[in-house]
Amino acid sequence: MEEKYVGRKFRTEFRSDTPPEDSRIYEIIDLGMRFSKMGLLPAEKGGHAGNFSFRNNRGFVITAGGVDKGSLKPNDFVQVLRCNTDIKKVTAEGSKQPSSETFAHHLIYSERLDVNAVIHVHDSAVLEKMDKLKIKKTEKRHPYGTIELAEDILKSLGKAKYIAVRGHGVIAVGKSLWEAGKLVETWHNAAVHI
Ligand SMILES: [Zn+2]
Repeated sequence: MEEKYVGRKFRTEFRSDTPPEDSRIYEIIDLGMRFSKMGLLPAEKGGHAGNFSFRNNRGFVITAGGVDKGSLKPNDFVQVLRCNTDIKKVTAEGSKQPSSETFAHHLIYSERLDVNAVIHVHDSAVLEKMDKLKIKKTEKRHPYGTIELAEDILKSLGKAKYIAVRGHGVIAVGKSLWEAGKLVETWHNAAVHI
């Protein structure tokens, strides 16, 4: 999609500027380095591609928007406490703005109680070969960061764990970051070798 990155399409109310602490943050830092080396987290459209999150007992923790996911630091993470899609507002804790795709992660965690981790990367190899690979895909293209995109992802994903987002990238979900990360790698390798 040729749309330029212009920031988040919701406002964030911060309850505190303290970033979350959790060992899974270090799992994401490692995955970010790994997927960056694989070319799945390119700098593009004035921002940086990709976002990672995991569920916790207060909501979910997500990567900050606009930061390079190939060299994440512990303060590049935001605790999301609540999302209100009607008034486009996110309530959070942290020192940076949450990912522009926070609503997509929110809808997945709300509807898919089996999911504890969500990973979004820009895998051009999978997008090129999505028909050949016979993977699920969103119904149509939407501007990034919109509720329409988030709803299409949720509906098209159904009970599956991996989906191509038309003209954009892919989303993998799992019980753990390890499971979602494994799906990203497995489908990337399938796309490269088909
Ligand atoms: Zn993206």
